[in-house]
Amino acid sequence: MKSHRQELWFHAEKRRQLFNVTARVQAAVAESGVREGLVLVNAMHITASVFINDDESGLHRDYERWLERLAPEKPYSQYEHNGSEDNADAHLKRTIMGREVVVAITAGKLDLGPWEQIFYYELDGKRDKRVLVKIIGE
Ligand code: ZN
Repeated sequence: MKSHRQELWFHAEKRRQLFNVTARVQAAVAESGVREGLVLVNAMHITASVFINDDESGLHRDYERWLERLAPEKPYSQYEHNGSEDNADAHLKRTIMGREVVVAITAGKLDLGPWEQIFYYELDGKRDKRVLVKIIGE
């Protein structure tokens, strides 16, 4: 069995920002040489998410509004977690959006549905953060 580990780094200019990482994950699969297997993609931070959905800008704005209704960023004082930090909302949003995805690799390609794309969702940005890509198979 082959195994390949890679980190993808991000630096969001905004507090919240979406990145389509599908091409970068496919490139990691190509580099791994794995033709049949699985790829795990997970955020290595507790205020960021990795999820799969449509690359459609209206939907992305809907996520932003929906998450702000569930866990509004402000006022910061509404959260017990916020004292020395101001990112309680980001922790909560990450819980809803999820930590990781697993995608099948078939014939060396990501075996995604027709509209499925892999996203990194930065929820507390303006600093360097990373995503782990772990590939196993043969
Ligand atoms: Zn925190």
